[in-house]
Amino acid sequence: MTERVHPVALVRDASAEDYDFGRDHPLAPVRVTLTHALIEDTGLATAPGVVHVTPEVEPERDLRDTLRVHDADYVATVHDLSRAIEPGTRFLDAPADLRARAATVGLGAGDTPAFAGVHDASLAVVRASAAAARRVLSGEVLHAFNPGGGLHHAMPDRAAGFCVYNDVAAAIATLLDDGAERVAYVDVDVHHGDGVERMFADDPRVLTISLHESGSTLFPGTGDATDVGVGAGRASVVNVPFAPQTSGAVWLDAFDAVVEPLVRAFQPDVLVTQLGCDTHVTDPLAHLALTLDDMAAIAARLHTLAHEAAEGRWIATGGGGYQLVSVVPRAWTLAFAEMTGAPLPIETPMTWRELVVARTGQEPPRDFDDAVPLLGEDVEAHTRRMAAESIATVRELVFPRHGVR
Ligand SMILES: [Zn+2]
Repeated sequence: MTERVHPVALVRDASAEDYDFGRDHPLAPVRVTLTHALIEDTGLATAPGVVHVTPEVEPERDLRDTLRVHDADYVATVHDLSRAIEPGTRFLDAPADLRARAATVGLGAGDTPAFAGVHDASLAVVRASAAAARRVLSGEVLHAFNPGGGLHHAMPDRAAGFCVYNDVAAAIATLLDDGAERVAYVDVDVHHGDGVERMFADDPRVLTISLHESGSTLFPGTGDATDVGVGAGRASVVNVPFAPQTSGAVWLDAFDAVVEPLVRAFQPDVLVTQLGCDTHVTDPLAHLALTLDDMAAIAARLHTLAHEAAEGRWIATGGGGYQLVSVVPRAWTLAFAEMTGAPLPIETPMTWRELVVARTGQEPPRDFDDAVPLLGEDVEAHTRRMAAESIATVRELVFPRHGVR
């Protein structure tokens, strides 16, 4: 953690919290609400240097930022569906022709169903991440955090994996269009950051690094270590897949072996990070074995890297994370504490615990401690061997192109 106090933006667009696929969907916006509340109630929101950003709605600019990475036909279809679906109705109750049209762009009855207002809510997520990008690039703040962002699976022409518009990719494209020459993107979500990778796979100005559970056991099934980018972007794509049950120790060693040297060699103008916390050992949708302490260690490493390789310019978004009460708010509050350098209380505030109960009926965590999972020695050895294979492949295919040994 660096000692200096510097301006850090906390970005919140209330309409981004309308990004809601409905009751019982795992990506519930309450995770963002509870995160902002915990940041507020722990006093981090008024820590020295913290700047609150509520992005202004500028429909033309927001659309332009979205179209930097998405096809116009796709955005038009999302827009139409957004208005055609009756507010307050379920996707399954929409007319058959609408449902069929939605299915053509990935917004069908699966993981990512269209809903009334989906275009506007998705645009609000882009607006918030693009606002973070602009504040950092202009020098107004050094770091910026948009907990509601990180929709890294959205593809140029379709929605996927709970993601409609790719706000992180739009933020990166905005940085490039506004004068950044090189951007490094580090995605620590448990799922492969496939959408962001796809959008910049042929662009040598953007180094995308995704550390994730192997596609052989987890959605979206891609992100092999041999996947290193195409054309002029060859070696600007990095993937570090892990075996199920990989611990924080193994994960962090891989980060040190791959992310550290590559980002330093790349010397980005800005570091953009997606901080999905679904790597947690208790996450219901994935199988890695990280703890909150590991996530705090990741944030500390990214912070150091931002200062040492990108002159401090750091944009962070949220992402996945499906323990909406016991993991997500604490993981992202720890990340924001890292960004601000401000201390956290040992216990979670009573006001926040009351909000958790009122909003979810779930038992709130009482402090920032986390249990360390017990993994057998054979598991440790197996996962370490798999990580070593990923690292070896990246070393062979990517390092030489960046002059890294
Ligand atoms: Zn800093």
